[in-house]
Amino acid sequence: IIQLYVPLNWFGTYYRQIQKNFVDMENMFDLMKEEQEVIDAPGAPGLSVVRGGIDFSNVSFGYSPEKIILKNVTFNIAPGKTVALVGQSGAGKSTIMRLLFRFYDVNSGAIMIDGQNIKTVTQASLRRAIGVVPQDTVLFNQTIKYNIKYGRISADDQEVIAAARNADIHEKILAFPQQYETQVGERGLRLSGGEKQRVAIARTILKGPQIVLLDEATSALDTQTERNIQAALARVCANKTTLIIAHRLSTIIHADEILVLREGEIIERGRHEQLLQEQGLYMEMWNQQLKNMEGEKLRDEKDFQE
Ligand code: ATP
Repeated sequence: IIQLYVPLNWFGTYYRQIQKNFVDMENMFDLMKEEQEVIDAPGAPGLSVVRGGIDFSNVSFGYSPEKIILKNVTFNIAPGKTVALVGQSGAGKSTIMRLLFRFYDVNSGAIMIDGQNIKTVTQASLRRAIGVVPQDTVLFNQTIKYNIKYGRISADDQEVIAAARNADIHEKILAFPQQYETQVGERGLRLSGGEKQRVAIARTILKGPQIVLLDEATSALDTQTERNIQAALARVCANKTTLIIAHRLSTIIHADEILVLREGEIIERGRHEQLLQEQGLYMEMWNQQLKNMEGEKLRDEKDFQE
């Protein structure tokens, strides 16, 4: 009984965490098929992805009827372009991602991919078209090779290695005791946050979806790691339709459009320079981040002197 109880309990905690944090939706769906809140329409066709254009039109949504979380959210991402979501904690950024992945159905309005309402197509086909790079990837207690290959089980070793190289984790893996056959996860080699995110990038590269959802890590990494991860992220998103939750505004100055959310509403939108000119919430957030960065720099210099 105890043996059974422990993993189940762990699973429940994990599931709640996923619902809360948009941690690792992709894995979650495979693991918890029975927990689905949405169902396929009878005879629903597969999503036919041509270029991966995304349209949110007048989307409103609440996790419960009493509390509306998203209000009339409208935006589109042209095929291959990048849109970034910014806003304070609780503004609704992850909720937008969860709706696009159809974790929940919208209350009103519609989400379309290449002109097809995501409500009308099979969930399996929708999720095949979307790759997710979460903040915190959950690793299986399996080899590192399996963990990457999970992105596309049919991939061969050469493809796994190519994906690992592109995600900038190949060299790291070669330094592991049994290289690609090394056990990772709770019962094996523990990977750092940055390494786990690179595993997620490698998985997504292998999956090769037309649409990529990215939740930028909040945890601070050292500058070099940060640069390497940014480069790997740029590779995974190249020519893909990308929606990114950005915590550091410096990473999205080149985004095609930035959406500023407050309490579930888009209150400002535009490119980085435009938004700075508007002198609204985005500018405030930007100035705040500059201040924090200067503070950190001063602290670093002080530590160095001491
Ligand atoms: P953060 O930057 O902290 O991740 P966010 O902008 O992504 O925040 P969301 O996670 O989308 O915010 O949450 C928006 C609102 O919805 C919050 O008020 C949150 O408490 C609520 N919420 C999120 N998930 C659930 C859930 N599963 N059930 C009920 N309410 C939820």
